[in-house]
Amino acid sequence: MINYIDTHAHILSKEFEDDFEDVLLRADQANIAKIMIITLDNDETRRAIEFAQRDKNKYMVACGIFPCDTSEVSEAYWQEYETLARSDDVDCVGEIGLDYYWEKDEEKREIQREYFIKQIELAKEINKPFLVHSRDAIQDTFDIMKQHRHKGLMHCYSGTKEMAIEFTKLGYYIALGGAITFKNARHSIEVCETIDENYLLSETDCPYMAPVPKRGQRNEPSNIPYIVKKMAEVKGYDEEKMASIIYNNWMRFLEK
Ligand SMILES: [Zn+2]
Repeated sequence: MINYIDTHAHILSKEFEDDFEDVLLRADQANIAKIMIITLDNDETRRAIEFAQRDKNKYMVACGIFPCDTSEVSEAYWQEYETLARSDDVDCVGEIGLDYYWEKDEEKREIQREYFIKQIELAKEINKPFLVHSRDAIQDTFDIMKQHRHKGLMHCYSGTKEMAIEFTKLGYYIALGGAITFKNARHSIEVCETIDENYLLSETDCPYMAPVPKRGQRNEPSNIPYIVKKMAEVKGYDEEKMASIIYNNWMRFLEK
């Protein structure tokens, strides 16, 4: 049996409220063995921790302060966030990083950088890997991750293969999502082809970024096989081999 991994799923977002159990059932039927639940605020993190008790082997929880939210973080919020991140029920710090696509203001971008560093340092201190969101900010993201080294992954990576190689040289993992199935997927395909396969991971980023043939629809964990199938095709492997490489990479990524 093939075991698939979804390293980035916002399954507690409101888009899944109406048919949550069906989404989970479809994920089971599609053999999605492990799902990293990404949460975007403290309340969602608490809900995720509670939900993950259902099956700690399958569901993991990540919490982070999203780059675009960093300028509104109060001291009290940070304290609460830090306590959650430290709890044994949280597995990773993320998604954290830089988003210059949505943030054009230079002062607020500086705040994003400060919080990115602060959260990498927190991840390091509590010995949990971190998950990075980077949009239109790849050079600054790289510079910070080069200076503040720890185990981490680039989520929904869309940069060049050259840059991807630089990240893997620092030990960072590269997660590919639905974009690799798109017609204009040159970058993702080249990344999948070129980088050391021991750093490749799969993700949905659901509810966004549904792969072909579901493109444009709401995405969900059960769509992971479309992504892995494409990755296997690019590498010239059968799907089982590709899935097992990803599975082993993910286990290594989570190792303490
Ligand atoms: Zn996300």
